[in-house]
Amino acid sequence: NLTEKLESSFKILKGSHKITEINIAESLKDVRRALLDADVNFKIAKDFTDRVKEKALGQDVLKAVNPGQMMVKLVHDELAELMGGSAEGINLSGKPSVILIAGLQGSGKTTFSGKLANHLKRKKGKFPLLAAGDVYRPAAIDQLKILGEQINVPVYTIEGSKDPVNIATSAVEEAEQKGQDLVIIDTAGRLAVDEQMMNEIAAIKKAVNPDEILFVVDSMTGQDAVNTAKAFNDVLNFDGVVLTKLDGDTRGGAALSIRSVVNKPIKFVGMGEKMDALDVFHPERMADRILGMGDIVSFVEKAQEQFDEEEARKLQKKLVKDQFNFNDFLKQINQIKKMGNMKDLMGMIPGMGKAMKDVDIDDDAFKGVEAIIYSMTPEEREKPSILNGSRRKRIAKGSGSSTADVNRLLKQFDEMRKMMKMVSKNGGKLPKMPMGG
Ligand code: GDP
Ligand code: MG
Repeated sequence: NLTEKLESSFKILKGSHKITEINIAESLKDVRRALLDADVNFKIAKDFTDRVKEKALGQDVLKAVNPGQMMVKLVHDELAELMGGSAEGINLSGKPSVILIAGLQGSGKTTFSGKLANHLKRKKGKFPLLAAGDVYRPAAIDQLKILGEQINVPVYTIEGSKDPVNIATSAVEEAEQKGQDLVIIDTAGRLAVDEQMMNEIAAIKKAVNPDEILFVVDSMTGQDAVNTAKAFNDVLNFDGVVLTKLDGDTRGGAALSIRSVVNKPIKFVGMGEKMDALDVFHPERMADRILGMGDIVSFVEKAQEQFDEEEARKLQKKLVKDQFNFNDFLKQINQIKKMGNMKDLMGMIPGMGKAMKDVDIDDDAFKGVEAIIYSMTPEEREKPSILNGSRRKRIAKGSGSSTADVNRLLKQFDEMRKMMKMVSKNGGKLPKMPMGG
């Protein structure tokens, strides 16, 4: 998927200290390929990587902590920018405000109509009326009625009518009469763009002059979504896009492409079938999502920089051979401090990520431990087994702790070493403990 591809393309930059034309070329090629694979239109992908490149080369690379890190941030920011800057609201100025919902069949129009009514009712104190404009499928009207009941919003229909334009205009009149300040018009869709559908929705637009036209698109449809968006925009000049089914295992490409091809903001995202599964669109979050990394972005990069795979392999070898000593332990503590979080580091040690997942460790807890280790001679750190009683006493004194503290650390260290050894021998899994859980 896009995430993995981008991640691997950044790995190429790992270990480099400067962003140069040469080392960026390869990773940008991968970024572009990844975008194409995620159904991003070719030209958009190319423009995108060109822009990232320009920005990367313009950066003061010497100041950059890590080229990989910088690239992730650049790509992330560029994605966010491409998808629309900040989240935009919808126009509710009309009296009543009229919102027209358009899109292909199955894209999620009816579900979204319900969600939007619910959202505006709760968040903006609106009194919506839902208009059932899908006259071709009898079940479509029932579907909207059921949703309306769920969210306690009235649904306007004309029994037996095959005239969606009439339904839409009558719904607006009804809202005016009944003092409802918002009409959301659900419409019919076809499986593919066709002339009749386009004529029909254009006629509805003309008849009701909506304040806002939202184009609904299934985010899983990939490249097709772009063509559909373009076709609808040519006819309707819609105001915004709704990306549905983002709760699924979807590719991020649609969001990117649609935004740049039709140059209309994405306003909402559908995150499920339920009436509350609607989010206002946030480009930053979407960029995170497309990159698939979120917080992991910075962490992975930090971790890569400070604890490379080579080191991890060496450590694993030592663990297996039972040679893990206090110098290694100190090194780890320093890594932890650099990375800022104990759990993060444990995650980098093969097999420890899962084992330590639920364990909370206070970074400060290491202060005393460090003092004790620093009071050991290099030899003692190398070979903890030589730490007899008098050595322990000396170390306790030197580190300002008690012999009991030193003993406890040695015991914990020993246990930790045993556990880590088992974990790494066991292919990264915690072995079953004989005494049971
Ligand atoms: P329409 O033909 O455009 O009106 O599409 P519908 O609203 O009937 O939605 C088609 C199908 O997609 C239905 O089964 C919906 O429950 C489902 N659906 C719509 N939006 C979402 C969403 O955001 N997430 C998920 N998982 N399913 C959705
Ligand atoms: Mg429908």
